[in-house]
Amino acid sequence: MTERAAPFYCPYCGDEDLRPFGDKHGEWRCGACQRVFRLNYVGIAADWTSSVRSAAKPSAAGEGAS
Ligand SMILES: [Zn+2]
Repeated sequence: MTERAAPFYCPYCGDEDLRPFGDKHGEWRCGACQRVFRLNYVGIAADWTSSVRSAAKPSAAGEGAS
């Protein structure tokens, strides 16, 4: 699997010292506030008010297309 997009700023303190944490994909640790957080994909929403069409199944295009 290719490397996923990385967050640029800590969502809690705004610092930029983020590094992958542990072995799992999508978990990051902030070096400034020491928080560990997880990014995960929820699904597709056509616009700001529509409900999310869940696409959690890895059969969707894009996942693992390396
Ligand atoms: Zn932080």
